[in-house]
Amino acid sequence: MLEIDGSQGEGGGQILRTSIALSAITQTPVRITNIRAGRKKSGLKRQHATAVQAAASLCDAETVGASPGSDRLEFVPGQIKSGDFRFAMGTAGSTSLVFQTLLPILLNADGPSTLVLEGGTHNPFAPPFDFLKQVYLRQLERMGASVVATIERHGFYPAGGGRVEFQISPCEGWKPVEILERGKVLQQRAVALVSNLPTSIGDRECEVARRKFGWKHEGSADVREVESNGPGNVAMIELEYQNVTELFIAFGAKGRASEQVARDVCRQANRYLKNTAPVGEYLADQLLLPMALGKVQGSGGGSFRTMKLTDHSTTHINIIREFLNVAIDVKEIASDQFDLSIT
Ligand code: AMP
Repeated sequence: MLEIDGSQGEGGGQILRTSIALSAITQTPVRITNIRAGRKKSGLKRQHATAVQAAASLCDAETVGASPGSDRLEFVPGQIKSGDFRFAMGTAGSTSLVFQTLLPILLNADGPSTLVLEGGTHNPFAPPFDFLKQVYLRQLERMGASVVATIERHGFYPAGGGRVEFQISPCEGWKPVEILERGKVLQQRAVALVSNLPTSIGDRECEVARRKFGWKHEGSADVREVESNGPGNVAMIELEYQNVTELFIAFGAKGRASEQVARDVCRQANRYLKNTAPVGEYLADQLLLPMALGKVQGSGGGSFRTMKLTDHSTTHINIIREFLNVAIDVKEIASDQFDLSIT
């Protein structure tokens, strides 16, 4: 059984998610100890336990310790199967993080699958649904993976209750990607989602962003009133280029002025706009696994240029190396630019 120390590096949930996905795909039984030891409240949160149980049901795995609070887990995978799956987080737990665990597994199934996830769709510290759809899945498509993502209902913290659906076809042939430049600008816009709150909140957020970036073009402000169980508001900035799309997000909360939310998201987008590297730190993190899998399973892999290699990504690289025999090289080409290649 492969032993993974969950406290290594930045000691978060990614170690768990990637280990479980790669355990299922490579059919390697795994024992993870010190789970999320780097976090304030260590061990499996409900959302992580759901991810593990869901992964187990996709591959008939036997598990020990897959319940909330556990800091030690054993996962013995069986054969991966395709099908129609539905998993509920129960709370506003992030559907995106569960998706991150299950997607690589279902890309390795024996046929197409439908995956329905219920819970939070726009959570802090997790990719918002829009990021998965516009940023991550677009790159996966270039790698040869076909995934259709639909949001049926939004889920904001704390009420949750969102519902997303993914149609996933197994990847037949991985292709390499090269993302070294952004390419031509195709669209830049501010998107505000507002649920059970006045839409003027979204108007104010978009206005701050348009003023900050001097955007006057049509479509540069998109305020959407969406259905959800409770009140919710996020401000996002979407920057679409020929070779990459990036998306930044800030969360509205009671007592937090819309202008403050907008300034938060503008700061994140501005940092990206001041650099020339195409891949932001979150996307860098998330490209590692499909690129590495693509490399060992076919002719995938490739290279990208990113602004920053976080502790999170370095830890992720080390976990991937525990399971897959791939060369992952990182070259610093400037203080705020790194080239990463998987060959
Ligand atoms: P962890 O903190 O280990 O549970 O991992 C969090 C995951 O969420 C990582 O894959 C991050 O790349 C991702 N993530 C966190 N915040 C964002 C964000 N604002 N946009 C996109 N992805 C995010």
